[in-house]
Amino acid sequence: MFKNRRIIAFISIILYLFLAHHLFASDPYESKRQSMVRDDIKGRGIKDRTVLDVMGKIPRHLFVGKRYMSTAYEDHPLPIGEGQTISQPYVVALMTEALRLKPTDRVLEIGTGSGYQAAVLAEIVKDVYTIEIRKSLADMARKRLEDLGYKNVKVKYADGYFGWEEYAPFDAIIITAAANHIPPPLIKQLKEGGRLILPLGSTVYYQTLTLAVKRKGDIDVEQMGPVAFVPMIGQSERKR
Ligand code: SAH
Repeated sequence: MFKNRRIIAFISIILYLFLAHHLFASDPYESKRQSMVRDDIKGRGIKDRTVLDVMGKIPRHLFVGKRYMSTAYEDHPLPIGEGQTISQPYVVALMTEALRLKPTDRVLEIGTGSGYQAAVLAEIVKDVYTIEIRKSLADMARKRLEDLGYKNVKVKYADGYFGWEEYAPFDAIIITAAANHIPPPLIKQLKEGGRLILPLGSTVYYQTLTLAVKRKGDIDVEQMGPVAFVPMIGQSERKR
């Protein structure tokens, strides 16, 4: 009897160690992710509790290729193919916070890229609609978001300049590619009182992160500081 107990205790310990190892091994990036939130996001002035929580949870390393996984939690952009980049974590946090999102909101994103920003939004709001002009990126992001279990994100392969009429109006719009003007169709598809954020200015060098709020059909603009994004292509390049 006594011997049996010892065997059971021994087996329990082995089982516990196995499970503990498995739990840690299943997310080897947990501590890097928490450092990113503490040092590069909270440490640089982001206060929105929801944004901090969400970015401390989403496996950012799964939004980049294998060779970049180990650097996925460093505070800089990374290549995602087709010459495009996943934005730096601090900028993702800054733009998301500026939108002052509510759980009931419906948000439009232009420039799906890796799908990371869309995932951040999807954890906070009710519905996310995201448009990507490069087909391979749109397909990859759609699959990735599906695999991660996001059911409230719709990915469309199209030129985001024209927005997504079918689901308009939106409570907030985020453009994650540089443009030299705000596409008029997007202002139209923004709700009264709604917020739109984008890197506005030269598409070659750096831009000014700009927040626009729609008031009586017009927009009030606030400048938030310099950023560097890849250019918005398509119609936005042709028209000023
Ligand atoms: N938000 C992304 C990063 C965006 S990089 C992320 O979290 O990973 C900018 C993306 O905008 C690129 O993937 C680029 O292909 C896309 N893009 C450029 N012009 C666009 C347009 N007119 N409509 C939609 N997407 C566009």
